[in-house]
Amino acid sequence: MANRENCVYCGKPITKRSREHIIQNAIGGLYESEDICCPDCNNYISKYIDVPFTKIFNAIISRIENFTKTNNKKSKPVYTGKAAYGGKVYDVSMKAGKVISCPELSKELKCDISKLNFEILAYDFPIDNIPFTKGLSKIAFNFALDKGISLDILKEGLKTKVTENGIEDISFKYPVIPFVPLNPMDKHIELNTSMELYHNLILFSQGEMLWCYIDLFNTFQYYVLLSDKWDKSISVHETYLQLLQKLNRSVPELYIRKPKHILTYAMFYNVEPSTDLEIFKKRVAEAIKKESLKKSMADVISAKMVDKYLTPELLTQTDTEERDFYLKSLLLYSNEDDSLNEKHFRTVTLTGNDLEITSYPLLINLLVLNGELDVRRYTYEKFNRLNKFLTGFDKIENVMDE
Ligand SMILES: [Zn+2]
Repeated sequence: MANRENCVYCGKPITKRSREHIIQNAIGGLYESEDICCPDCNNYISKYIDVPFTKIFNAIISRIENFTKTNNKKSKPVYTGKAAYGGKVYDVSMKAGKVISCPELSKELKCDISKLNFEILAYDFPIDNIPFTKGLSKIAFNFALDKGISLDILKEGLKTKVTENGIEDISFKYPVIPFVPLNPMDKHIELNTSMELYHNLILFSQGEMLWCYIDLFNTFQYYVLLSDKWDKSISVHETYLQLLQKLNRSVPELYIRKPKHILTYAMFYNVEPSTDLEIFKKRVAEAIKKESLKKSMADVISAKMVDKYLTPELLTQTDTEERDFYLKSLLLYSNEDDSLNEKHFRTVTLTGNDLEITSYPLLINLLVLNGELDVRRYTYEKFNRLNKFLTGFDKIENVMDE
């Protein structure tokens, strides 16, 4: 694909390539593009959209073991919450699951409180809707651009203000709909299978609509409507999935005797060649590390599908409607070899007495509008699951504000 000539935000020619993370680097995103915007707009996005968005997740990233990040080796972020000491509850700052400061107690005891044994009770998870929605929209917008969707299609939800001083505002106006599982297979995958940390993106067209499904940390799941004027004769389906915890993968011994060998390895691992062998080996190691975290969505989800879905209780279930719903959900997602039918995953579900195939985001939207769907309950369930995974126990009470 030829390089984009003009910045998607300010429209000025891109004279210098700048690397933009499709999913923000601070939350572990490895997927980059150099083909989206100019360095000035990249800075704007980073400061006003990415930083406020990724800050929300500090209490999560700070507690992920072997968390992957690309170029930022800074230590784990600090987050706030409540902890008990000596029968009293305090406001504290924490890092990686440990209390690092508590001004109130420090004043009372006049000593270093970091050695004390606190009982952590809760942490703050400040979901502020505006930065949250903007951050999600940016991911959807970038993913679509990187997959070759034209800016004209996406423009309607993008508002920018450019003056002679440069870029002054970038905001996104795409409708965002939360995901809630509406069939037994999805409930099973989301709540009953083993927890793995990953980010997943699905870009798909459906009639005249272009959607991006976003799942961050296998917990925060949303649909972003990128366009409702899509040419329905064109079908789009693209996916991306990456794990968020570093794998123990060894780097092979590189056999380099001639410059030609460097080029061969460079091509094989898709890295830039360098005659400095130390630099080159580092690049290869980095590429292997990144590559191994990228997975096929079908592989990851197929494994969850077969895991304990069809129980004997279900197969002897006498409520035939219920049984039908289970079996038809399984069929909806299965190829003949029992692997995941990727085109159906998160794009469609079943509805009505006949369990007809229908648009997933549109059905969720309809049920929410009719007050028939409890989005909050599912959000809590997923959030608690993540928390249990991060702490290894169940007792932390989450503070989640809207
Ligand atoms: Zn620009």
